[in-house]
Amino acid sequence: MKNAAFQKQTAKLGFVGLGLMGSRFLRRFNGEGWKVRGWNRSRSATTLELRKNGVEIDENLASLVRSSEVLLSSLADDNAVREVYLGEGGIFAHLQPGMTILEMSTISPDLSALLHRKAVERGAQLIDLPVSGSTPAVEAGTVTLFAGGEPEAFESCIPIFRSVAKQWFLMGPATAGIRMKLVVNFLLGANMEAIAEAVSLGEHLKLDRDLMLNVLPKTAVVAPAFSNKFSKIQTEDYSPQFPLHLMNKDLRLVQSVATRPVAALPVASATIQAFGQAVARRGELDISSIASYVRELVDRP
Ligand code: NAP
Repeated sequence: MKNAAFQKQTAKLGFVGLGLMGSRFLRRFNGEGWKVRGWNRSRSATTLELRKNGVEIDENLASLVRSSEVLLSSLADDNAVREVYLGEGGIFAHLQPGMTILEMSTISPDLSALLHRKAVERGAQLIDLPVSGSTPAVEAGTVTLFAGGEPEAFESCIPIFRSVAKQWFLMGPATAGIRMKLVVNFLLGANMEAIAEAVSLGEHLKLDRDLMLNVLPKTAVVAPAFSNKFSKIQTEDYSPQFPLHLMNKDLRLVQSVATRPVAALPVASATIQAFGQAVARRGELDISSIASYVRELVDRP
């Protein structure tokens, strides 16, 4: 049977995980006129700010889940998702049959498959819906969404997607969205590393650094996702949009799926190594801080 599409006048949305991405998604849904509430494990500064802007924040997860028809989540990693969904008093403990879940975190395909199975057991429908695009794109409502799940569930959520994304793709059944996300984030990490090395090469060739950093994003070889990274490198403002430790986590996920069975990915291996070494001192900084890591390699005696 075809599901009716969710409408902002009537549907009740609940957003779980109000970090860099989730807090901005919640603000955007609220601004777009959806009836939406949020919940976060901690971060009183963020939740206070959201409340000041008129967004309802639940004190406990159970009440958010029980009062939502569509639950969305954006959580750090596998551990966070496992705890929030499968832990004692977690989402699955309170889920009602008929609910729809849009799980937007970047996690392993294995965990995503488990969430799909658990949702089906409870009569709910789940779509894995990872996001391509960082915090500026969330604020602008221009992210790209990759979905995995049933076509009917996907279709019914299109009005929700339209409020935050410029495009959305159903990549296939359960976990296809997350598998696509790993493909895309491998490209993101490898490109970021290549840009850092290209800048280092330009310095080695004694190019005017500022001029090079201004011109590079104007060339056809630099993807739009990186255009604002050059000014971050130029000013060494590595405040996080996409923190390096999350890129490192995604590259580890790429590594773990690529080894079962083995896919030959030499560039991925080099990228994983670089981010793995950079994460210790730069984990909380933006991914563009990989440029300062590469620079230090050159400076090393
Ligand atoms: P973030 O700022 O670090 O936020 C992580 C969220 O996960 C916070 O709400 C945090 O809650 C929660 N969390 C972590 N561990 C938890 C636990 N054990 N139990 C409950 N909650 C827990 O990360 P983000 O940048 O928003 O990223 C969220 C997801 O989107 C990640 O999977 C990331 O890979 C993906 N993503 C990020 C970007 C980006 O540009 N930032 C782009 C695309 C996709 P607390 O506040 O309580 O710690």
